[in-house]
Amino acid sequence: MLTLRNLTAKIDRKIILDGVTQTFRKKKIYAIMGPNGSGKSTLARIVMGDPTFSLTRTSELKLSGKSIKNKDADERAHLGIFLSMQSPLAIPGVTVFSLLRAATQETGITAKELKTKMDQYASDLKIPAELLTRSLNDGFSGGERKKMEVLQMAVLNPQYIFLDEIDTGVDVDALKTIAQFLKKHLKETDKTLVMITHYNRILKYLTPDVTLIIKDGAIVKRGDAELAKMIEKKGFDSI
Ligand code: ADP
Ligand code: MG
Repeated sequence: MLTLRNLTAKIDRKIILDGVTQTFRKKKIYAIMGPNGSGKSTLARIVMGDPTFSLTRTSELKLSGKSIKNKDADERAHLGIFLSMQSPLAIPGVTVFSLLRAATQETGITAKELKTKMDQYASDLKIPAELLTRSLNDGFSGGERKKMEVLQMAVLNPQYIFLDEIDTGVDVDALKTIAQFLKKHLKETDKTLVMITHYNRILKYLTPDVTLIIKDGAIVKRGDAELAKMIEKKGFDSI
């Protein structure tokens, strides 16, 4: 269980998150929606430990009851939190394999086992083998970058999966591939999936148990999958 309590974040004295309280439970799927600039990405980045933002003293962030507020992103990743960023960066000179090799060093997985796993997931995600040998995300299309994020997530096998606009810039076929892959990945696990999205199309495959609407850095409404559908039809001004 990942618990946020009164999470309030500032940057240069400007409040970007304004008292967010929310529990993310195991085995549940969450959708986070909200207008541009409402604080969705900031929320995910703060959970992951982005030091750009300063949290107020009363802000609480707990994993299974223990505070992770002072842990850095690397430690949080080791504790099972994963974030796929809205705009994954290119890393010239680093292949996805070398990145994953570095990230999984302490797990004892051999290079061969890692490669087998990575190749299998890449094939499931219909990622051309050629992309695995190139510098990560360097010259990749939007859809290719998003698939690469999902590939890394699957190999790292986190407990709490935050996907920031994994469906943005992705064509219909790639979206279906990603959604079906995620569905299979979650099956018979107790993982938590948190999807930040503007569209209901990915939610057709991955039905959210909880939909959260963020406006001006605060959760203004909670609902189920129906709320996400309503938002797509009527927009955020309707709430
Ligand atoms: P969303 O993901 O909902 O579109 P963001 O979380 O990216 O919104 O941004 C929320 C607000 O915080 C926006 O007004 C944005 O300009 C501001 N913001 C985000 N990051 C920074 C930053 N590094 N410096 C200054 N303002 C920022
Ligand atoms: Mg965003």
